[in-house]
Amino acid sequence: MKKEIENFDVIIVGAGIAGITTAYYLQKERTKSSYLILESLDNYGGTWYTHKYPGIRSDSDLYTFGFEFKPWTSAPIATADEILKYLGETIKENQIDEKIRYRHKIIEAEWSSKKKSWILKVERSDTKKIIYFSCNFLMMCQGYFRHNEGYTPKWKDMDKFKGKIVHTEEWPENLDYKNKKIILIGSGATAATTVPAMASKANHVTMLQRSPTFYRTSTVGTEELVERLNKFTDDEKWTYGIVRQQILINQEIFIRRCIEEPEVVKEELINEVKKILGPDYDIEKHFTPSYRPWQQRITLTTNGDLFKSIASGKVSVFTDEIDKFTSNGILLKSGSEITGDIVATATGFNMNILGDIQFTIDNKKLHLEETVTYRGMMFTTVPNLLWVFGYFRGAWTLRAELLARFLSRLLTHMDNLDVKKVTVALREEDKKMKLLPWIADEEFNPGYLSRVMAKMPKSGDKPEWVHNQNYWYEKDTIPTINLDGEEFLYD
Ligand SMILES: Cc1cc2nc3c(=O)[nH]c(=O)nc-3n(C[C@H](O)[C@H](O)[C@H](O)COP(=O)(O)OP(=O)(O)OC[C@H]3O[C@@H](n4cnc5c(N)ncnc54)[C@H](O)[C@@H]3O)c2cc1C
Repeated sequence: MKKEIENFDVIIVGAGIAGITTAYYLQKERTKSSYLILESLDNYGGTWYTHKYPGIRSDSDLYTFGFEFKPWTSAPIATADEILKYLGETIKENQIDEKIRYRHKIIEAEWSSKKKSWILKVERSDTKKIIYFSCNFLMMCQGYFRHNEGYTPKWKDMDKFKGKIVHTEEWPENLDYKNKKIILIGSGATAATTVPAMASKANHVTMLQRSPTFYRTSTVGTEELVERLNKFTDDEKWTYGIVRQQILINQEIFIRRCIEEPEVVKEELINEVKKILGPDYDIEKHFTPSYRPWQQRITLTTNGDLFKSIASGKVSVFTDEIDKFTSNGILLKSGSEITGDIVATATGFNMNILGDIQFTIDNKKLHLEETVTYRGMMFTTVPNLLWVFGYFRGAWTLRAELLARFLSRLLTHMDNLDVKKVTVALREEDKKMKLLPWIADEEFNPGYLSRVMAKMPKSGDKPEWVHNQNYWYEKDTIPTINLDGEEFLYD
């Protein structure tokens, strides 16, 4: 039977922040390109749609996490519902809704150099029917982790625990934790949100961490600037633009300080925590990380709410390792036992590399780990595909926007050359280049990345072959990439 195939110029994988950004810029800058977004879930928003744990909110300020083209006008830190509302408005205002097909999970992608197109095998999540699409260019906006499937390490005797064990990514919406004793395992952004949110209703929350994390106790600090600007004008775009720039500059200065004077920044961050917890609290043990600030994302607390709930006695912290689960809780390697009715695991993600799609290039299975990344967005041997992976240290959207605009520029360049295929390849001068892991461990080392590093593309030691994490560098570099450079092969 002949397959029925719907064809588009560009297919965008995923209707999260990155997919919506790409759609916006394609519509604006490539008016003649046809495009479609395929989304496996039944709604837009990705991260902000699937996460339901108590207190879920952004970790970035929405002045930089929001889109450049749509002013954010509320408080800088936003709840998932507020972010979803903002994304919903963006979709509606730009008529992107008619371009999204929900419940369409791409499972295979096959590139043909002869036809210069991708064929996508898609499963409808409601009917399980298999259907096919084709496109000239694939924009991978699949995010970086598997939705609704958190990473929980396997601890001894977990099955002996009489209470409930839930991962924060798989949170049952109606989970009743009122007056219950909670053990929360983890200390990252999710823990910092969930612990104070649960503490307000629960009997007690114990935060169990293997090692300490850096936290910020104040929000972005631009509230006063917003207030002052609002006195001058009611032009939201103007205020948004200025505040956004101010935050970006503050972040740049802060990141530079983290690298140039890590010990000073470390002390400043820890002193803020000390101010709330007081002199008798064991800060050395629980809140003094061994890594340098910014080697992992610095976790934001809303005005120190995590520490205020510790100071109030509603939350206690254990820094220890798990020996095994018991019927009432967890036995720690130190010999102490902590008890609880519910164990919540905020222990990270499972990476979703290229949307867990099986890729074939001209009948050969793609082994992504054998490719070299071009600036963390394209891969050698993989034609007509761009991958959106945002910043670890800044708002994800900043990079999603840069790459969405790069896609439009690349497509226009291809039109001008009258070609339909682009691949990146190592130049003569790159052929002896030392190949390195995708991201250096000392640069950024969260567990979800380390677990899959062997499956990730390689990087090199020249700017073209590095996934750079510096927005200030990329904001000037990406828009001015020489598309006639030798590393681009067109056909
Ligand atoms: C709890 C939490 C809080 C966060 N807070 C921040 C923050 O404050 N600031 C920040 O910068 N970053 C934050 N992040 C990172 C966050 O994931 C990104 O900022 C951003 O939301 C990612 O957007 P995205 O569109 O790239 O990916 P996602 O939001 O992951 O969306 C990807 C979409 O692609 C779909 N998809 C994937 N594979 C397929 C397939 N094969 N077929 C069809 N569809 C597919 C998914 O269903 C999903 O809807 C946070 C992450 C988490 C988990």
